[in-house]
Amino acid sequence: MRVVVLGAGIVGAACARELARRGLAVTVLDRGGPAAATTAHGEGNVLVSDKGPGPELELARLSRRLWPEILAEHEAPPADAVEWDAKGGIVVATTDAGARELARFADSQRAAGITADTLDAAALAEAEPHVTRDVALAVHYPEDAQVQPSGAAAFLLGGALRAGAELRTGCEVLGAVTSGGRLTAVRTSAGTIEADAFVNATGPWSGEVAARLGAPVDVRPRRGEVLVTTPQPPLVFHKVYDADYVGAVGSGAEELQASAVVESTRAGTILLGSSRRRVGFDDRLRPEVLSVIARKALRLFPCLAGVPVMRAYGGFRPYVPDHLPVIGPDPRLPGLWHAGGHEGAGIGLSPGTALLLADLLTGRAPQIDPAPFRVDRPAVLFEGDDQ
Ligand SMILES: Cc1cc2nc3c(=O)[nH]c(=O)nc-3n(C[C@H](O)[C@H](O)[C@H](O)COP(=O)(O)OP(=O)(O)OC[C@H]3O[C@@H](n4cnc5c(N)ncnc54)[C@H](O)[C@@H]3O)c2cc1C
Repeated sequence: MRVVVLGAGIVGAACARELARRGLAVTVLDRGGPAAATTAHGEGNVLVSDKGPGPELELARLSRRLWPEILAEHEAPPADAVEWDAKGGIVVATTDAGARELARFADSQRAAGITADTLDAAALAEAEPHVTRDVALAVHYPEDAQVQPSGAAAFLLGGALRAGAELRTGCEVLGAVTSGGRLTAVRTSAGTIEADAFVNATGPWSGEVAARLGAPVDVRPRRGEVLVTTPQPPLVFHKVYDADYVGAVGSGAEELQASAVVESTRAGTILLGSSRRRVGFDDRLRPEVLSVIARKALRLFPCLAGVPVMRAYGGFRPYVPDHLPVIGPDPRLPGLWHAGGHEGAGIGLSPGTALLLADLLTGRAPQIDPAPFRVDRPAVLFEGDDQ
């Protein structure tokens, strides 16, 4: 069976790896280079802490289990480039209202089997000596982890190539060739490419690419920005974020949502995220947005006040109005499959997505219920605007 994976971001790379390792003839194509789009413009959090009970949490738990298994396979390039760090996350509420909401959310997660340990002031100070003392509630999630997104995508793509996949860069998908109502080939800037199945993994462009293929899905860009400090001595030991983050993630508002997400990287830089805005593909950095991010990060870590910011960057999360990825066959166009719409969680969720997609495509029983991610659900088939 020949499969063409459209898009060489982390989701396409993970799908290509899983499919190639099952013996399928896989071609990955991208209009740019591998991992050059959203995957290179986010952070690398692999989180269960921000997901309430439900299908996304199940996909996150599956992915969290798969990450170490994939890395333990010791494929070259070395797994070290992935910078896997099972550092755990700490969610901090700084107001009483925030503490009540965090306590309720953590209870619901515990009931679903997630480890969520309340930290008293002494335990928090020991875990994060530099975090604000002005804390109403702190919860530790030991299952949260972190990767370096481009390194992780390169690792997964390397696994695909070693299993026989082919990579074609500079190859833009322009349209569909159909026969008897089935997708049999894609027209690209580098010619027509035939296959038995096509996996749309074009991230925030999934809506546009699906429309070009004649089967639109409602995946839209949701802008996010991050500040990067100069390398620092160890100051931040977990992934630490403000309890409002969960509300910002779950909101579909167009206007700016920002909440502090602070984490150190192996290089010593500290990433300060992040914003959420729906502004189409407008990629201008806005000083006022960066100021809000900095202010919120300082509220969590006052010690960062004198720390220089080295750079800022932003990307476009692939947003679906019901906040669930789209994974599975497109019933309107046999031959077309989707693996996209992961919004702010596509790095963490890529291994589980690839496993689910490959199980469905090769007729194996999936390890989690695929129904909530199906393509023909109302939130996905609405033909939205470009916002
Ligand atoms: C600020 C920010 C912070 C984030 N933080 C996190 C985080 O901490 N943890 C996490 O899990 N996720 C995070 N994310 C989200 C994560 O980055 C995305 O969910 C993920 O990268 C999506 O990967 P993808 O492979 O679907 O898309 P992409 O990486 O965008 O890949 C899609 C590919 O498709 C290609 N393409 C597009 N159109 C065409 C076409 N017509 N023809 C051929 N190729 C095409 C593009 O060139 C691109 O390479 C963050 C995102 C942002 C913006």
